[in-house]
Amino acid sequence: RRNFIIMPVKILLNGSNGRMGRAISDSAAECGCEIAAACDIGSRPEDFIENCDVAVDFSFREATAALAELCAKYGKPLVIGTTGHTPEQRAQIENFSKIIPIVWAGNYSLGVNLLNHLAKIAATTLDESYDIEIVEMHPRHKKDAPSGTAEKLKEIVCACRNVGEDKVCYGRHGQVGERPVGEIGVHALRGGSVVGDHTVIFAADGERLELAHKAADRKVFAKGALRAAKWLAEAKRAPKIYGMETVLFGE
Ligand code: NAD
Repeated sequence: RRNFIIMPVKILLNGSNGRMGRAISDSAAECGCEIAAACDIGSRPEDFIENCDVAVDFSFREATAALAELCAKYGKPLVIGTTGHTPEQRAQIENFSKIIPIVWAGNYSLGVNLLNHLAKIAATTLDESYDIEIVEMHPRHKKDAPSGTAEKLKEIVCACRNVGEDKVCYGRHGQVGERPVGEIGVHALRGGSVVGDHTVIFAADGERLELAHKAADRKVFAKGALRAAKWLAEAKRAPKIYGMETVLFGE
C-alpha cells in the first residue's frame, strides 16, 4: 500500500484578528487547511498571495473589493464571508468573478443553508394569507443590519412570492396601521454575545409556522468557510460566483 501525504490547503486569511478570523485559525488544521498568511489592518496581502491556494475574507465591507482585485491579478480563488457591502461594492466584486471563482455566502453554516431551503418550500406552499416575518439577533458589536443571512432569507421569500423590495418593511414604529397583505417584515435585534439567530415566521389566522436556526459557536461558520476554500482548491472551478448551496449540495 502506498501512503499519500495530503498537503493542507494554504489560506490567505483577511481579518485574522477578528472573531471569525480567530475561529478560522482555530479550525484550520482539523479541516485540512493551513493559515499561510494571516492578514488584518496594516498587512500587505500582496506580499503573500502568490504562495497561497485560496483567500478567505472575514474582515470589513471596505476591504473585500481590493482583495478580490488582488486575487484576480494572481488567479487565486476567493471565499467571501464579510457582509454588509453596498450595491457599488457588490458590483465591483462581481466584476472580478469574471476572472476567478468566488464562493460568496452570508452564512456558511450547514443548518442555515438548510433553513434557506426550508423557507423556500414554506413560502412556495403557503399563500399570502400567511404573513411572513423574518427576525434575526446578533451580538452588540455587529456593524450592519439586517444580517446577510436575513437579507438572503428575505430575497428567497420575496422571489417565491414574486414581490420586490417595496413590499419589505424593516422594523415598525408609531402608528403603523393594519399590516398590508403580502408585506414581508424584517427585524434586527442586537445584544450581548449572541452568535446569530434567525427565525422565519409564517403567521395565518389560527396557526403559525416558525423555522428557526440558532448558532451557538462561530466554529460552524469557520468550518463551512474552510470547506468552501477546500472545494475551490480541489478542482479548477469556472470563474463565477457560487453560493454555499453549490459547495454543499452540488451544482
Ligand atoms: P470583527 O470586527 O471581530 O473582525 C473583523 C476584523 O477585520 C478585525 O480584526 C478588523 O481589524 C479587520 N479589518 C477591518 N478592516 C480591514 C481591512 N481593511 N483589511 C484587513 N482587515 C480588516 O468581526 P467578525 O465578527 O469577525 O465578522 C467579520 C465579518 O464576517 C463581518 O462582516 C460579519 O458580518 C461577517 N460574518 C459572516 C459570517 C458568514 O457565515 N458569512 C459569519 C459571521 C460573521
